Amino acid sequence: MLTHSEATIFMAHRFNAPALGISGHNPQNLRHILAQLRRRRYELISIAELFRRLRNGEELKRAVAFTIDDGYSDAGLVAAPIFAEFDCPLTVFAVTDFLDGQMWFWMDKIAYIFTQTKRRELSARLGNEQFQFSLESGAGRAGWRALVDRCYRAPKADRLACIKELSRTAEVELPSQPPESFRALTWDEARALENRGVTFGPHTVTHPILSALPAEESEREIAGSWRHLRSQLSNPVPVFCYPGGRSHDFSEREVAVMTRTGLWGAVTGEPGNLRSGLSRDATDQWYRLPRYLYQDTLTGVLQCVSGIERIKTQLRGASAS
Ligand SMILES: [Zn+2]
Repeated sequence: MLTHSEATIFMAHRFNAPALGISGHNPQNLRHILAQLRRRRYELISIAELFRRLRNGEELKRAVAFTIDDGYSDAGLVAAPIFAEFDCPLTVFAVTDFLDGQMWFWMDKIAYIFTQTKRRELSARLGNEQFQFSLESGAGRAGWRALVDRCYRAPKADRLACIKELSRTAEVELPSQPPESFRALTWDEARALENRGVTFGPHTVTHPILSALPAEESEREIAGSWRHLRSQLSNPVPVFCYPGGRSHDFSEREVAVMTRTGLWGAVTGEPGNLRSGLSRDATDQWYRLPRYLYQDTLTGVLQCVSGIERIKTQLRGASAS
């Protein structure tokens, strides 16, 4: 079970806004979950407060922090007002080129092609691999998820070529700016959110997997996003978020850049609670803070904050080894 010196960070991505064609977590469920966490006396704290406690070697006190990755518009339109209702701090990790309106996410382009195409069959090549999708059934429509998984760690040139070919065979033209359902917060919206208590942290310039980049590019992605965030906002939090988020998506090299850049730490997508061992003597671990994927059910959230999820993971690991 969770002791008083542990804490939990959640990461979410998208929230439902049917009028804008956005599907994600259910806002009503989020209200229910936040109300229950308050009722059960979990402490809802900000990432900055979490780091203050780590720095001072204070107890983490069953604290819970919420984060949303990437900086899509629904973080502001849907999620932020609900977190505010419960006086729950929220940190949004922003991809700066995305908020600049310079890009939309390649995975969204794949989703867009699959939902917009009139074709019943799609094909694409990724490197040497050939993909064939039949869109007759719902399962076929979900095929884009499998392709996204394969594209995630493919070389950038292969991925770009794959999406280009997919767009051609699907006869779906990709607009240069993202459609409403895939758009980012504007900087004006981000500033308005900041005035209402939301904090922003850097999540790279263009969202690449850092460990796959040459050193200087990786550094540019980290330092550049932090610099740009500071130029656009008044009080961003110096805590970084790794694209991909798994332990192989970054290395000591990225941690060294962050310490040089003055960033306090970083969050990953590796599941787990924050343990008491993350005190002042273990600052290296501050650049590898685990987060649980936010689940849309109270049971799922309670399992994470209570430590049950961690025990389940340990048991699964023990039975596999
Ligand atoms: Zn991300």
